Amino acid sequence: MLDPRHRDPQVAIQSPLSLFIDGQWRKPDSDALLTLVSPVTEQPFARFAEGDTRDIDRAVDAARRAFDTGPWPRMPAAERSDLLARVADLLEARLPELASAWTVQVGAPIGLTRHAVAQAPQLFRFYAQLLRGTPLVDERTGAKGGRVRVVREPVGVVAAITPWNAPLVLLCYKVAAALAAGCTVVAKPSPETPMDAWLVAECIEAAGLPPGVFNVVAAGRDVGDHLIRHPGIDKISFTGSTAAGRHIGAVAAQRMVRTGFELGGKSAAILLEDADLAQALPSLVPYSMPITGQVCFSLTRILVPESRHREIVDAYVGAVAGIRVGDPFDETTQMGPLTMARQLQRVQDYIARGREEGARLLLGGGRPGHMPSGWFIEPTVFDEVGVGMTIAQEEIFGPVVSIIGYRDLDDAVRKANATIYGLHGAVYTADAERGYALARRIRSGSVTVNGLIVDPTMPFGGFGQSGLGREGGIEGLDAYFETKTVYFA
Ligand code: NAD
Repeated sequence: MLDPRHRDPQVAIQSPLSLFIDGQWRKPDSDALLTLVSPVTEQPFARFAEGDTRDIDRAVDAARRAFDTGPWPRMPAAERSDLLARVADLLEARLPELASAWTVQVGAPIGLTRHAVAQAPQLFRFYAQLLRGTPLVDERTGAKGGRVRVVREPVGVVAAITPWNAPLVLLCYKVAAALAAGCTVVAKPSPETPMDAWLVAECIEAAGLPPGVFNVVAAGRDVGDHLIRHPGIDKISFTGSTAAGRHIGAVAAQRMVRTGFELGGKSAAILLEDADLAQALPSLVPYSMPITGQVCFSLTRILVPESRHREIVDAYVGAVAGIRVGDPFDETTQMGPLTMARQLQRVQDYIARGREEGARLLLGGGRPGHMPSGWFIEPTVFDEVGVGMTIAQEEIFGPVVSIIGYRDLDDAVRKANATIYGLHGAVYTADAERGYALARRIRSGSVTVNGLIVDPTMPFGGFGQSGLGREGGIEGLDAYFETKTVYFA
């Protein structure tokens, strides 16, 4: 028996058939609707308003007015901070709904989403507090002794474009920081997972932020393309695929629109010869394929020393074989389905490619026998993967892990760095400082020694084609400021 929440996720959204523009829930320009489909039942469970280019124009106009003439960017920082803290409280009160929304739309296990949604209020609270401690005007003395004020001003109207895999948290990274800086926002969530943005908008509305400061228009990429080209936008903050990021970067360059990119990954976990497997497996197993591998920082390449290859692979594969795949609303489930039919097709194609190119399939590769419907795929592990193989180079975005052997540390570093990506990584060793030294040689935005940590109060982002700029932490707030120098002659 599947959980009834796949049909009714118990999320009380007031106006799913309206868009949030200029502080009001408004009927969209057209009658088009987004149909949300459960990845478990493969049946529709909700309908939401779909925006078109005219809705984008209205939302950008509202955000522009709110920025150019409204109170938000001019408000004392402490007042803005209080309002953001109120948003955090309101989000906190709705955590069960936020968890349910993530699980029903994406298929992420409720045991995971229930904890992970807490990052939404955490981000609003973090940036509310950080704003209070951030000097916005720096009094300096010029080279010839004159007075100078170096001022941090909000960058302007932000287009916040987010993917479907972690729709709440990825939106809150952007919105909490942008609003704290005094920017106004037009959010364009993915058409497959709009619920979270509606919930965030309801909390922002209830907190009493001025009209136009935050707007939501859910739509697909064509309408999104209108947003990124809109002359009223000052910054595009994009999380999604590297392919879309390249396109958006090229468009943004025409007007020198500011950009922030959080893109794909192919992160490596390096186990050193002295790694303690009992200590490593509890993080390595879930984080090599979290949310069915649909997480940008998944540790999808595991680099093992030749001297311990067999032992490590046996232990890892044994643990992965024990992952409980099933209904994501079941408390005991560790892995749900893939989110969309096209995701299942994509992952199956990569598994076929891995086999064709000569990697050795150790585990999985097909549909789990006990889940006859839904977009389920077994946790899949390939051994003897060459660094040049497609499955070692491209982001699969599914539960497919490549085991890659290495001879010595230099070989491990070379292989870890041998992709276009550089998002995250992990090093497992008995000697933390040795792990740190190795972390410094990995070309990626973050590395965890002996585990996997992504802390929203710390910077996160990519080297190489995994992105540009950072979200989270102090750096995440800086991304929404322009620097202005005022001289007193
Ligand atoms: P995607 O690039 O297809 O879409 C992401 C968002 O961008 C969606 O809202 C989509 O409608 C929109 N979009 C696409 N093309 C656009 C265009 N030309 N103009 C405006 N908007 C456009 O990605 P996806 O399949 O939704 O998400 C999966 C990808 O996201 C993976 O590559 C994953 O690694 C990446 N991701 C990165 C991070 C990170 O923090 N680095 C986090 C989560 C996901």
